Amino acid sequence: MNDVGPQRTHTATPAPPPQILRARGVVKTYHSGTHEVPALRGIDLDVHVGELVTVMGPSGNGKTTLLNCLSGLDDIDAGTVTVDGADLFAMSDAKRTRHRATRMGFVFQAFNLIPVLSAAENVELPLLITGVAPKAARKRARDVLGRVGLARRAGHRPGELSGGEQQRVTVARALVGEPALVWADEPTGALDSRTAGDIIELLLEVHAAGQTLVIVTHDEGLGRTGQRLVQVRDGRITHDGDPRTAPAVTELVPAAAATGAATNAEVVS
Ligand code: ADP
Repeated sequence: MNDVGPQRTHTATPAPPPQILRARGVVKTYHSGTHEVPALRGIDLDVHVGELVTVMGPSGNGKTTLLNCLSGLDDIDAGTVTVDGADLFAMSDAKRTRHRATRMGFVFQAFNLIPVLSAAENVELPLLITGVAPKAARKRARDVLGRVGLARRAGHRPGELSGGEQQRVTVARALVGEPALVWADEPTGALDSRTAGDIIELLLEVHAAGQTLVIVTHDEGLGRTGQRLVQVRDGRITHDGDPRTAPAVTELVPAAAATGAATNAEVVS
């Protein structure tokens, strides 16, 4: 028998999952009267396929602005944001809107459902806007409503549904286009604690099924359940990693907030 030398072992680490979001140096300043409010002061953030990232921090510190800017809902003053391979701020507004509609889903605190449309019609709407044939759109809407536990409510209008059911419809609407990334901003904020718990369960199930999610939340339970917690303070990321090693949110409150002053407004006049 030939000596073929030591057996090769396969110890190479697997390649990381593809990147869905890459943000670098994102700056956003609001102008209101004589004040400039530096809402984001240089955000770097990477999100990979299949991650669940929760974003927490005291009110007024830039979480919603981060979501709006990194999803291309709002303009930025500096930096770059790439979502699913496309540089959001290098494209025209129309292209960015289309990219958002086809590659991203949104769940907000205010459900933003159209009151005169049924649950199924609300869910199929984003598909119809992007040119999916009506019959296929209706089938997909019904399938995804089934996934969120609302198969029997598909024909009901939002006013005939509870708050928790309405939020399930918005989750279905966010998922129906099979987006690369779902953004959620305080998805449990308007719900009582039991219903909020149900929505958190649903979002965790959606993540377990493979969906990439970034969730802004005040809910400590949800924030600490994820694999990765991003904490935002005064327009900057102060923690990005294991939720267990992150400081409590109360430790993040800036001194200015404690005295009732605006947290990050700067007088420029
Ligand atoms: P959070 O989501 O953490 O509560 P926001 O992102 O909503 O914080 O706000 C960050 C800062 O930007 C706050 O000081 C807020 O008052 C300010 N801000 C947010 N939106 C606007 C706006 N449209 N015009 C002016 N200032 C704004």
